[in-house]
Amino acid sequence: MYVTYLLLLGSAIAINSILLIIVYRNSQKSLTIVTLIILLILLNIWFAPKLLTNAFHLSGDLFENMSRLAALGYVLTPATFLTFSLSYGRFNKVLNNVYYWISVLGSTLFYLYLSWTTNIVGVHEYSQAFLASWGYETPTGLLWPYYMIWFDSLMVASVVVLYLYYKKVKDLADKRETLLIMMAVSLPLVIGTITTGILPLFNIFVFPLGLVLADFMTILGVIVVYKFGWFVVSPTTILSSLSEMIVTVDKTGHILHMNPYSEKILKVRAINVIGKPLEDILIIKDKENSGNRLNNLLDTSLSKGKTFIGESLTISNIRRQTLPLTLAISPIKQDQMLVGANIFLKDNSAEKARSKQKDDFFAVMSHELRTPITSIRAYNQLLLSKFKQKSDSRRVIVSKMDIQLNRLLRLIQDFYELSELQSGKLKLEREFFAVDEFVLNLIDTMQVTYKNRTFQVEGLTNSTVYADKGRIEQVLINFLTNAMKYSPEDKQIVIRLLTNSKQICVGVQDFGSGIQPEFQDKIFKRFFRIEDAVRGKLGLGVGLFVASTIVRLHQGRIWVESKVGQGSVFYFSLPLSH
Ligand code: ADP
Repeated sequence: MYVTYLLLLGSAIAINSILLIIVYRNSQKSLTIVTLIILLILLNIWFAPKLLTNAFHLSGDLFENMSRLAALGYVLTPATFLTFSLSYGRFNKVLNNVYYWISVLGSTLFYLYLSWTTNIVGVHEYSQAFLASWGYETPTGLLWPYYMIWFDSLMVASVVVLYLYYKKVKDLADKRETLLIMMAVSLPLVIGTITTGILPLFNIFVFPLGLVLADFMTILGVIVVYKFGWFVVSPTTILSSLSEMIVTVDKTGHILHMNPYSEKILKVRAINVIGKPLEDILIIKDKENSGNRLNNLLDTSLSKGKTFIGESLTISNIRRQTLPLTLAISPIKQDQMLVGANIFLKDNSAEKARSKQKDDFFAVMSHELRTPITSIRAYNQLLLSKFKQKSDSRRVIVSKMDIQLNRLLRLIQDFYELSELQSGKLKLEREFFAVDEFVLNLIDTMQVTYKNRTFQVEGLTNSTVYADKGRIEQVLINFLTNAMKYSPEDKQIVIRLLTNSKQICVGVQDFGSGIQPEFQDKIFKRFFRIEDAVRGKLGLGVGLFVASTIVRLHQGRIWVESKVGQGSVFYFSLPLSH
């Protein structure tokens, strides 16, 4: 019997040590793993001194020191196990609660103190209680039953925590793994409590079966490790180490989970915001700035079960810092039911900073180029005026130079306009003016410059708008130069003026190549040019982008109607001023 006892102790220590090495070597050091490692060390600290004192019949100081070491092992075990179970079952709220630590650590330290200074925890009869030689004045009494109740209630709490987790998880492998751990704990717990704890109270001494079962428990532990690949990187760990923001919400938009990176960028702690509406930590800021924008997006995404992607949104976090982000809402389905959504957020700050640098460079460059080229052109025109005779070869050269300088200036102007637009510097200087008169004057000037073209104005509006005259002129000139650029010289250009009670509309029609339907939206984008159409035509693909920005700033609309081979009509509309 005595030898069996020693053998059991020895094998328990061996199995624990093997498991300890496996766990230590194979796994990431999360709280769950760290507590498991501590637990295994504690079990050895509990068993090893027992083995030594019994095997070598130790006594005196050596015995007392060994007893103190063993006490460290068995007193710290329940609290460590409970912490392990809570962490395993992801009960972060409890783990982050200071009262949990005060009560669990407090009671542990209390019993540790008693068991180190007295023997009252261990003795089963009051008459046998004495003050340990190294001890201090302490309350005396039979604390064994209380100690047992405390020990067992922490262990039972751990099993309950594991059970709650078992009920919560859906994944079958997770369920089995939890069940095994639960069994591994509850068996030695129940049997051990009966054989080592309760029966001796009635002076019945049986073989300490708890120990056999402790072996059983560790073996089960090893099975768990190998069979269920417990230490294979878990999805939660993968999420945690991602440097992308992921926030999971339930179907009502309340936060279920957020990974550390999103905590960092959004400046919140997951533990404080879980269960709160997403809108509490994230607000989409844009021109409309409607507070519920995010909710609406979520609702639409959830009700339709469709992924939503919003690029370059401005989002403000809880500290009112604004961040340029790309946001994707991806609904989560479980058994055909929508249960929530994952929200992926990508920080665009770096990209935005780079693009701003580039824009700044273009802005400075085009601004600096404009001045010298304008003066070269002025000198060139002065030169041109000196050579009056058309046959003069010098005049021919200088006028060719003038044409090229004009082109160059237009290109630089385009650049300049674009960078002005992008830096948000474009301010409208609005005034009231009559549309008909404005258009007719402009066409007259164009006619003088382009003598070979036929311009024809149709319809009159008799209306006034409140707009930036210079900018609207720029839009119309862009339409007209494009019409000339992309249609043969002998084809006329028709300018149509239309109106209804709310807005006026100006259309410029050409009878040129026309635009394929798939390009009709794209041509208003920055730098977009239709490859086939622009061969040999100078341009940056910026004009229509600038025009559309100007029109939108006026709350107007810009669009094109076109048929390939027949020509195009470019329109813009402006709200009428009454
Ligand atoms: P650019 O003319 O400098 O290339 P724009 O932004 O003014 O830039 O125009 C964008 C593109 O739209 C042009 O490259 C051309 O392919 C197409 N486009 C514009 N106007 C017309 C038109 N009237 N007819 C046919 N294509 C046109």
